[in-house]
Amino acid sequence: MISGDTRHNTLPPRRVSFDKFFFVLRAFFLIGAAAWVVSTAAQIQALPGLARAMVAGAVPPLLWFLLYSVFFFALVSRFPAHRAPAFHAMMLLDTAFVTLMVRATGLGNSEFFLGYYLFIAAHTMSFGPAWGAAATVLSSALYMALYFQNPDRFFIGDFAVRTGFMFLVYFVIASIAENERKDRLRMELDSQQIDHLNRRLEKHLTELVEKNTAFSTANTILEQKQKKIDELNRSLERTVGELMEEKQAAIEASAAKDSLIQLKNEVTERRRSHIAFSKELNAKDTIEETVVLFSRYIGQLLGVDDVSVISAAADQDYLLYRPSGKTVSTQRLNAGHPILQTVIKNQDHVAEWRAEAVGETLPAGVAITDFEPAVVRAEPLLHGRAADGVFVISHPEPCAFDMDVMEETRILCNHLGVAIQNLKLRFKLQELAETDGLTGLYNHRFLQDRLDQELLRAQRYSRPLSVLLFDIDHFKRVNDTHGHRAGDAVLAELATVVSAKLRRLDILARYGGEEFIAILPETPLPGALELAERLRVAVQDHPFPIEHDDRLNITISVGAGAFPEYKTKEELIEATDQALYRAKSGGRNRVESGGHSL
Ligand code: GH3
Ligand code: MG
Ligand code: MG
Repeated sequence: MISGDTRHNTLPPRRVSFDKFFFVLRAFFLIGAAAWVVSTAAQIQALPGLARAMVAGAVPPLLWFLLYSVFFFALVSRFPAHRAPAFHAMMLLDTAFVTLMVRATGLGNSEFFLGYYLFIAAHTMSFGPAWGAAATVLSSALYMALYFQNPDRFFIGDFAVRTGFMFLVYFVIASIAENERKDRLRMELDSQQIDHLNRRLEKHLTELVEKNTAFSTANTILEQKQKKIDELNRSLERTVGELMEEKQAAIEASAAKDSLIQLKNEVTERRRSHIAFSKELNAKDTIEETVVLFSRYIGQLLGVDDVSVISAAADQDYLLYRPSGKTVSTQRLNAGHPILQTVIKNQDHVAEWRAEAVGETLPAGVAITDFEPAVVRAEPLLHGRAADGVFVISHPEPCAFDMDVMEETRILCNHLGVAIQNLKLRFKLQELAETDGLTGLYNHRFLQDRLDQELLRAQRYSRPLSVLLFDIDHFKRVNDTHGHRAGDAVLAELATVVSAKLRRLDILARYGGEEFIAILPETPLPGALELAERLRVAVQDHPFPIEHDDRLNITISVGAGAFPEYKTKEELIEATDQALYRAKSGGRNRVESGGHSL
């Protein structure tokens, strides 16, 4: 660092040391002079009167010299500012002192003229050539004054040399002093220049320092900013990393979600399809149709061709429905049949239930791959309750099905069971609504509807249609003689006897108490009359069992009517009724038709 104080680099004021040196010189000069006086005084007795006078004459100037030297030394030491006038005054006094000393110590013979050189040199050195010149001129003037006062006491040659030496000393010292002054000046200039340069350097350095400080401040700020940026970058990296991870997780989650949604959609779709299937299953009118639909749907679901259904029949037997395309073959299985036995025996040994076990009953290579649907449906069989069905699913490989699909199949089997049960219930209800409880024949209401339909068909296709109405003769007597229950038994037996004589297409119904009606499609009146006669004979010849193994014979009277002779149901019934009336009134056990009798 450059200090602000540049004076340490310049020279100290030369004058002070020179002044001290000057005063020290004066002291030596005084001591020398005093020594001369003392040494001379030792010979004072031997000296002539002139010499004594000379010694005595030297003492006052010396004392004078001592006095003003001390005075000016004190003055200059105390007031350095008054140094110049003090030294100029001393120059005058010194010149005068040397002159007095020369005069007192032998004039031309005196050696004290050397004092001139000393003081000229001192003044020239101390105050420059001008004041040195003044001292030289003054000294030479005073020395010349001494010469011209006492020319006989001087050797002219010595005088000239000594005066000339005064100027020589002056010139030498002046030139030395001038050179020295110039040197000092140059040095001062140099020093100033150095100062200036130093100041500039200092300023420059200060600026540099300031700039450096500013730079370092800026640098610090920059570093802090860089740190912050680094931190931000790191946190950004972290955030980006986290974001990437989150995004990755989100992608995975979304993929998982997508597949889940897809799965869910598939499941929902399957469920929908199952529900639709179940509805469709319940809408079928026959067990056969139901089985065909079930077989097709479950077959697709499981990827198998043959799905058979075992369902309980009305009696103790079972029916095996084996679908093939749109048709179903039905096979009656009694309780001891190998299929049923296998179902019962192997319900815990699924894989063993192979075609071998059931022999020729099921198609070759058939295996029950998962027993569960069968088990569920087999249970009612095992406990002898009304069974809804056993489902036989055929596949060449055991346990080849997906468990979910099997579970769905099991549920759908339940649906099938319910559908079959409903169907059977529906059949039962229909039967109850349409049939007569005592005879098992169709009832009056059913008969009315059916006659409408048959008449419509006959009209549309111009086909013949006949109706027979018959009534047991004197039935009141049967009741009265054998009791009401015997009457009931006769009624039921009559239904069987008549049914056996009719074709499959004919419809037999109980019309009223002991009145029956038969609708004979595709039958013209002559054919109807023939059948009526056959019926009359069959009844007449049939022994009706009553209590106590007794037999009873009864007869019937028959009225017949036919389309197209009678167009409407009312006309037809009316005509037939009229014919029956005529048969009764004509003697009973006979057949009458609208206007005709056999
Ligand atoms: P006919 O027809 O020859 O003129 O003489 P009928 O004795 O059969 O006379 P009618 O037709 O008037 O009598 C019908 C009798 O049939 C009356 C009733 O006691 C009897 N009956 C009607 N429905 C039943 C029934 O469901 N069970 C029994 N046991 N008797 C019945
Ligand atoms: Mg009657
Ligand atoms: Mg009767």
